[in-house]
Amino acid sequence: MLRQRRADHGYRQRRILEGPQQPEQVIDGRPVLAFCGNDYLGLAAHPAVVAAFKAGANRYGVGAGAAHLVNGHTRAHHRLEEALAAFTGRDRALLFSTGYMANLGVAQALLRRGDRVLQDRLNHASLIDAARISGARLQRYRHGDVDDLSRLLAQPAPQDTLVSTDGVFSMDGDIAPLAALADRSRQADAWFMVDDAHGLGVLGATGAGTLEALELDQTQVPLLMGTLGKALGTAGAFVAGSDDLIETLIQSARTYIYTTAMPAAVAEATLAALEVVHQEPERREYLHRLIRQFRTGAAELGLPLMDSTTPIQPLQVGHTLAATTLSEALLAQGLLVPAIRPPTVPPNTARLRVTLSAAHTPDQVDHLLTVLGRLYRSDS
Ligand SMILES: *Cc1c(COP(=O)(O)O)cnc(C)c1O
Repeated sequence: MLRQRRADHGYRQRRILEGPQQPEQVIDGRPVLAFCGNDYLGLAAHPAVVAAFKAGANRYGVGAGAAHLVNGHTRAHHRLEEALAAFTGRDRALLFSTGYMANLGVAQALLRRGDRVLQDRLNHASLIDAARISGARLQRYRHGDVDDLSRLLAQPAPQDTLVSTDGVFSMDGDIAPLAALADRSRQADAWFMVDDAHGLGVLGATGAGTLEALELDQTQVPLLMGTLGKALGTAGAFVAGSDDLIETLIQSARTYIYTTAMPAAVAEATLAALEVVHQEPERREYLHRLIRQFRTGAAELGLPLMDSTTPIQPLQVGHTLAATTLSEALLAQGLLVPAIRPPTVPPNTARLRVTLSAAHTPDQVDHLLTVLGRLYRSDS
């Protein structure tokens, strides 16, 4: 397996980061300008968020020491759940330690053998693993294709159906046609779930995510999963929805019950991050200006942009070797942009996954464009 991975140019290796997640960083001992994190609002190292984290540790200590259902559920966790429910316009929210675990917990709690899960073909790996762990039958519809979903929904199903999709696709940056997907799911009496890991904090009038941007309420999207480790800059995740949904998860989601609660200080830091999101809408507006700057510049250079209006701005290169070569050439120029290769993305769609953050400056984005333009010309 390892030898094959190397031969396929698909070998995964870690780099060692010496400081906080921010555009200028030192990784593997060399200073780089990074365009690859998911810290879209630049909150991971924001002073107010760091201060809240420290204050949280002073008050609650570091480890939660127990699961939520034993005695690890602090006032900080509880306040954060209420704040997230209010932020997303849902009845209630429930914290999980990671988005991966939230997705697993939802599927395992709601589905059993004989049920089915219908998913977009480009959904995040955690949703696919969630379907597998649930024992339900997984079927995938073509990317963003509402009619293909309808075709699957029309097939007879003996028991329950869950339709789940990324809100913003993590490797493509495009937005799912959520209103239509919600409609079709409701008509077919299926559950509908949106994983908004990359929309939360970034999209919508108040930053509440893709559902806010598309004005979809809890009856249209009964299940919302959001992560805290991306735009909110901390760690963990939540599921939001009706009181019955949340109670069901508390009673039976194994990834909720059988794990230690996230540190209360993380909850305090996340509350501070939410406060920044509320108080500083200009961060979001600035990020969207950077996105437009990048797209305009890349289009002028003839770079292979994908159809994305989000901070995820991949350049689809095609062959794995071409993507890794470009990524290495960028690194030689001090720019960190990872090559994303199969099996993370479909065969022959290897890409450079550029991500932008409100922590970047317009000059940094221009610099990236200049170097990309130069490399791309010499390459093609
Ligand atoms: C990152 C991500 C997750 C997992 O969230 P973690 O908190 O990092 O475990 C789930 N879904 C999507 C779409 C993601 O991008």
